[in-house]
Amino acid sequence: MNKADEALALAPAPAPPSHATLPSPLDLSRLFERRSDRYLRRLLPGFCAVFGIAVLGAGLWSYLLGTGQSPGSLVIRLALVATASFTYRMPRSGPSPTGRASFVYFLHAVALAVSVHPLGDGVLEAMPTLFFWMVAAGLLEPRPRQCLRILAPPALLYGALGALMLPSAAAFAIWIACIAAPALAIMLGMASLRIRRETWLRERKLLSACRYDNLSGALSRAYLTELARHDLSLAQRHGHALAVAMLDIDHFKRVNDTYGHAAGDAVIRALVATCMNTLRASDYVGRVGGEEFVCVLPEAGAEEAAVCAERIRETFAGQQIPGAPSELRCTVSIGISVCRDRCDWETLLREADGALYGAKGAGRNRVVVAGHQHHQAA
Ligand code: GH3
Ligand code: MG
Ligand code: MG
Repeated sequence: MNKADEALALAPAPAPPSHATLPSPLDLSRLFERRSDRYLRRLLPGFCAVFGIAVLGAGLWSYLLGTGQSPGSLVIRLALVATASFTYRMPRSGPSPTGRASFVYFLHAVALAVSVHPLGDGVLEAMPTLFFWMVAAGLLEPRPRQCLRILAPPALLYGALGALMLPSAAAFAIWIACIAAPALAIMLGMASLRIRRETWLRERKLLSACRYDNLSGALSRAYLTELARHDLSLAQRHGHALAVAMLDIDHFKRVNDTYGHAAGDAVIRALVATCMNTLRASDYVGRVGGEEFVCVLPEAGAEEAAVCAERIRETFAGQQIPGAPSELRCTVSIGISVCRDRCDWETLLREADGALYGAKGAGRNRVVVAGHQHHQAA
């Protein structure tokens, strides 16, 4: 097991699944499962339709060769393939893609075995085609358990038919094929799953590096801007409020100079943790500068945002910073701006920055709302 897989296996307690928080290993694992299901859902119509055509083609071919197939058996095959095709596309709330693929494979396997000739011959005739499609299932569904779910019903069906209809030597050959084909499919699938999973995890790592600040876990400036612009346009369309709080740690240079940069880093982490613990699930915080942060509070007006900011300010000022000397205490100044009717992201930030300057000028460790004379002092 490589390190990424280990991280997935040793997942800690589930974290809230939100784009605004760093995904935990468990979230990643769930995301990968969802992505694999989506992949299977997309492949199902094309892959299984070709399988269905092969089933009908095999029936037509043996009919044309005059191997004892009647037009009736062709009609039965067609009906079975058509029934299976109804499950290609179904709403998300319907059966799982694995369940659907399993159903399709089973019906196709039954269709392959259909013959008016003694059924035993049908089983023997159908086996090479079925064997090929069983192995190809590893490409359709590379997850071993799911692949086995798809292949177990047709393998058991053919094993049982072989045992019932064929002399022991032929039945034995069928049994070997029924074990070997799913085993090969699973091995093929596991090889492609490994590559797919590693590529995906690498992609996610890159995405996380772009979206999250690796010191504090806050959103990066770029991702914060992307989310905020989206939330702002939603707020304007529905006539809802949206508040922005800009935070800057007070006398931070002094903290670095007195206690060292490691203690400074601990202060940054503590402030972000305080914000995350105080904000609602729909709010988020991003790092926009060295020790400057922006909280976005959708649906919050000036008063609500001021209460929230005051809670952050107060909690931060009163807390002992984890990982820093116990006597170290820090404060933060906060400027708030609120979107009114028509506003853009840049204007909101500029107003919050102006309010933050006001808080610094008024003595720091306080919350100032843009456009309000009232300064909430410590
Ligand atoms: P003010 O109260 O006016 O904000 O004063 P200040 O000392 O906090 O001034 P300023 O906001 O300009 O401080 C920025 C300092 O933040 C400068 C830099 O050394 C420090 N800094 C920036 N990024 C980091 C970081 O990632 N880790 C640490 N430890 N310090 C950082
Ligand atoms: Mg600063
Ligand atoms: Mg500062």
